[in-house]
Amino acid sequence: MSHMIELHNVSKFYSNKDTVSTGFSKVDLNLDMGEFVVITGESGSGKSTLLNVISGLDSYEEGELFIAGEDTSGYRTEDYERYRKKYIGNIFQDFNLVNSYTVYQNVELSMMLSGMPRSEQKQNIPEYIEMVDMTAYTKTKASKLSGGQKQRVAIARALAKNAPVIVADEPTGNLDSASAEKVMETLHRISKDRLVVIVTHNYEQAAPYVTRKITMHDGRIIEDKKIQPAAGDLSDDEMESYLHPEEERKEKEAAKPRSGGRAMRNEEAETGGKGRRKGRGRRNPFAEAPVYRKMSAGSQLRLGVRNTFNLPAKFILLLLVYLFVTAAVLSQYASTKQALHSNDLMGYNNYFTDTSPERLILTKKDGSAFTTSDYESLQKMDNADYIIKGDAGIDTGIMFESDDIDISGPMYPVSCLKEKPTIGRLPKKDTEVVLVADPECYSYDAIKEMDKKILGKKYYIDALNSMAIQGGDRLIKDKVTVVGVVLLSEDAGRSSNGNVMIYVTDNVAARVLVKTAAASSTVTLDFSGTKSDYSGMQVVYPSKKVTKGEVYISEDQAYQFYEEGAARGKTMGLHVKNHYFEESRDFRIGQVFKADNIRSLLGLSKNNYDEYTSNVYINPSDYNKIFNQGNFQSSFFMKDEKLSDSTVKALESAGYKVLVIKDTFTDATGGYAFILRMFSMVRLALEFIVLFFISYAVIRLIMRSRNSYYSTLRILGASRKNTDNILRIELLLMMAISYGGVLVGSNLVRRGIVAVPAVNERLAFLSATDYFILFVGLLVMSLLIAKRYSHKIFSKSAMKVYREEA
Ligand code: ADP
Ligand code: MG
Repeated sequence: MSHMIELHNVSKFYSNKDTVSTGFSKVDLNLDMGEFVVITGESGSGKSTLLNVISGLDSYEEGELFIAGEDTSGYRTEDYERYRKKYIGNIFQDFNLVNSYTVYQNVELSMMLSGMPRSEQKQNIPEYIEMVDMTAYTKTKASKLSGGQKQRVAIARALAKNAPVIVADEPTGNLDSASAEKVMETLHRISKDRLVVIVTHNYEQAAPYVTRKITMHDGRIIEDKKIQPAAGDLSDDEMESYLHPEEERKEKEAAKPRSGGRAMRNEEAETGGKGRRKGRGRRNPFAEAPVYRKMSAGSQLRLGVRNTFNLPAKFILLLLVYLFVTAAVLSQYASTKQALHSNDLMGYNNYFTDTSPERLILTKKDGSAFTTSDYESLQKMDNADYIIKGDAGIDTGIMFESDDIDISGPMYPVSCLKEKPTIGRLPKKDTEVVLVADPECYSYDAIKEMDKKILGKKYYIDALNSMAIQGGDRLIKDKVTVVGVVLLSEDAGRSSNGNVMIYVTDNVAARVLVKTAAASSTVTLDFSGTKSDYSGMQVVYPSKKVTKGEVYISEDQAYQFYEEGAARGKTMGLHVKNHYFEESRDFRIGQVFKADNIRSLLGLSKNNYDEYTSNVYINPSDYNKIFNQGNFQSSFFMKDEKLSDSTVKALESAGYKVLVIKDTFTDATGGYAFILRMFSMVRLALEFIVLFFISYAVIRLIMRSRNSYYSTLRILGASRKNTDNILRIELLLMMAISYGGVLVGSNLVRRGIVAVPAVNERLAFLSATDYFILFVGLLVMSLLIAKRYSHKIFSKSAMKVYREEA
């Protein structure tokens, strides 16, 4: 005969530190379906312990325990979880309901845990609530019910699992006699197709229904008496088909097309042929064969979400902690970035005249010249302010000298000037310029003082000794006139390191670019096979007086390379090479110039002939064809230099090589920049760790109040995986809500809807990547906390946690 539960010589010991006490010892017991068993005995006799071992909540140390014919000696935690879930419905003296859930939700919880499909849950929950006469309270929170009502809900919850064994420890212990009677009656009503085991010290309450009475004393069974025939004694065959229906169903399913699980079971019950429960009038639709199903992901999600919100105090506390952590991490991170950034900007640089942090110097990765469509798409990029197409000019410092005021600084094309002149107007001709000065500029005060008197001042534009063009080289022949001045305010957001910015017409700027190319190329002159190289100086010059295709060379060159100076009519090869292009052309030597004909041939002064002897002169159109091959380098000015990291990334993926001006700075900290940086990073990391532990401690403290909830879930049959997931969802949802809140807050500040300038200034340093990193950090923190907490509650048995909380 196969029994539902069989114990052979089972003993249970409790060991606490150095004392071992006996829960019960050497118990031999068989329990069958249909029985209504009452265990009585004085306090401390081992009743509860026995019940807990039977229901798989506690382990045993000795003997053998068979459940549904299965040996449990090799059971691991997961096997016990499965066992509890499939077979056991627990009812406790103190009800163990989830107080913050409604009656409906408590019953639903047990169905969710046993993996019942949602449609079945909806259909059956009202029936179970009806069975225990609690329909009127369906939507009432468990905390608002009386003890008797709670216990009836607990019974409905145990039934809802559809477990064949109902185990109740002092179910009426906390109830008045009227409620107790009702609970007993209810338990009896549901016992017909189940095994009900009740522990009580008030035997009288149970007496009318009992089929078997077991009395315990001092950890042993001293009496085991059948009182009346059990309602549902099953034959061996019936028992077998009841306990192992899966195999049976598999055989049937192999023969039949699939249909819905529940329908199948009903059909099976009706046509099962084995006469299950024959001879008993009512077929109980609830007492179906136990089936083990996994809790669905949807149920886990629903519980996680429900738990997040259903305890308002806990919700607000957790929210505050998470908000605090998120905001603190964000603010620490931003202020570190801010500090590092201002460190970065403290350097200086010897190569570039315009060292505004907004400037990015671009070349194309494939080395080609910029096209119109390149400029169009660059201009459309996020954070693009303006683009200086050929940017060599802005590093070619120029110098104005006059009696009143000397001015020098980088040169810009006037099309890139955004401001309107404070004094005067914009240039209309190539011989007109506008000066732009910011308050940091060395001659700002002087210019301001001169006011309108500066207009009309005439200057030669001479190159400062920088990049390529030799210092003192006259960039355009005629004097230029100052026609306008822009005096920038302090918050204009741009400056040029104390220089005056000189805006010339785009045409002049373009000419200076070509000149820069000519000056920075390595030029090889090939006089009938004799080559001479020139670099770092300009040797090829344009002159309108030279015919296309011809070159004028000096007398010195003619005598150096040709016998008797007979150079005219011969061919001179010109080879030009620079960073960006290479070009070779042949020219016919048209004239040889010398001191007495240099004025008539080239319009140059005879007195300076010595300076010109290594120069060669070609027609401006030839000169342009060779040196004006387009822009190979441009400067991209950002609206907000703080976003430079993401802008650089975007430019790089668009096919540009990017030079960040501040990266070219010579360290102004005298070599300590790296150490300062490391120090900031370490400090930030430490701050994060401290924040993590503070929030971890606080969150765990808050989650401690959830211990009883999670032990209830386990007692109802939740696996560790289930509770882990539910916990994770709860914490991740909290995190997402606070993260979203902080994101909305920072957005409001960034957009100036909420005006907190100090915060806004800091937030400007955070990029999308930073926000993402923060998100990942919080995610990891939440998962770690979930893991630690779950480890903590699962390191003890469900009962132990439950007892500690009760
Ligand atoms: P009953 O339910 O019949 O009152 P219990 O099963 O609770 O009795 O207790 C049986 C024996 O086991 C008692 O001697 C009790 O002291 C001991 N016991 C019960 N629970 C624990 C425990 N968690 N730790 C140590 N001893 C325990
Ligand atoms: Mg007890």
